[in-house]
Amino acid sequence: MITTTRKMAAKKHIALVAHDNCKTALLRWVKEHQPKLANHALYATGTTGHLLTKETGLPITCLISGPMGGDQQLGALISQSKIDIMIFFWDPLNAVPHDPDVKALLRISAVWNIPVATNRASANFIITSPLLDKEINIEIPDYEAYLKKRLD
Ligand code: PGA
Repeated sequence: MITTTRKMAAKKHIALVAHDNCKTALLRWVKEHQPKLANHALYATGTTGHLLTKETGLPITCLISGPMGGDQQLGALISQSKIDIMIFFWDPLNAVPHDPDVKALLRISAVWNIPVATNRASANFIITSPLLDKEINIEIPDYEAYLKKRLD
């Protein structure tokens, strides 16, 4: 895969997602880091976003609820480089009806090389990273080169 770079602004676009059994844990984490999160643009899947907004007052762009297409909507934003970081407290102990969407979301975040936290410990590493508030370059697939190679 040929790669290129994309600039992430100092103000990051951060997606917050939690499966039902993990929503309380994500809410607690968001409250603990609210002052830092408030400096960034926040997105969330439907139910997670409405819960977080209600409980914290943070402005959050709410997508569709995960099982109704929200994971796919978020994946589309990631593939358009509109999301910089994803904090996704997914439930490793229970099956969800939209498991294929969850898998697709995790796959597309790997494709576009965004930092992903899947639990509290990894989320803590991201939120305390010195890169969080800095403009940085990340390596991403060179889509133009990819297309050219496919069409040659
Ligand atoms: P929800 O979706 O925030 O609407 O619950 C999360 C998910 O299950 O992916």
